[in-house]
Amino acid sequence: VIRDSSLRLVGSEMCIRDSLSTTNAGKVTEICDAIGDLLDLVDRPADMPDVVEDAPDLEGNARLKAAAVCAATGLDAVSDDTGLEVDALDGAPGVLSARYAGAHATYADNVAKLLSELERVGARSPDRRRARFRTVVMVVRPDGSELMAEGTVEGVISDDSRGRGGFGYDPVFVPLEGDGRSFAEMGDDKHEISHRGKALRALARALRDA
Ligand code: IMP
Repeated sequence: VIRDSSLRLVGSEMCIRDSLSTTNAGKVTEICDAIGDLLDLVDRPADMPDVVEDAPDLEGNARLKAAAVCAATGLDAVSDDTGLEVDALDGAPGVLSARYAGAHATYADNVAKLLSELERVGARSPDRRRARFRTVVMVVRPDGSELMAEGTVEGVISDDSRGRGGFGYDPVFVPLEGDGRSFAEMGDDKHEISHRGKALRALARALRDA
């Protein structure tokens, strides 16, 4: 059903297939694996400036990105925004997940800061290291209407990095609904339980019902 819709997936980092930036290649791969056969994926316009993601929450940033792409293309646009919320850090890094250790932080910098912050607050046992990934996906259409879906996965932040797959905080995130492996130790099975996989499947259901 979705395959025939006019939806174009052109939001932010999602579908820049020919111009993948190394920092988000993992995410594009996950999205394309999850819904590439459901939606018509097109490139984000190359001449579109980056959207400044300065909203206070994930929903706001997702809206900013999708609305900007929609305005630039005149097409339905989809964007996503994800944050890692760590209970012992009062929900940090949250909406700041990409730049937790600074504006130009690498994934490794962010993971190192996360582990040191948990150490600083004395969160050593697994029950003190509870966290979740939250993804908001949003469709914005030229008529101004929007459709939103969300996905979360609960987990625990491990003591050190494990595994070589995935990206971002994957090496230190152990999902509760898994078998003890970190996301970075998983393959495509990450998509079955991941925040983004759930959000994208919820979005597909919402589109089908719309
Ligand atoms: P974004 O909004 O999807 O760009 O995500 C913001 C930041 O959250 C990224 O820079 C990553 O550090 C982190 N992140 C998002 N999704 C994931 C994931 O699936 N695994 C690990 N880290 C992620």
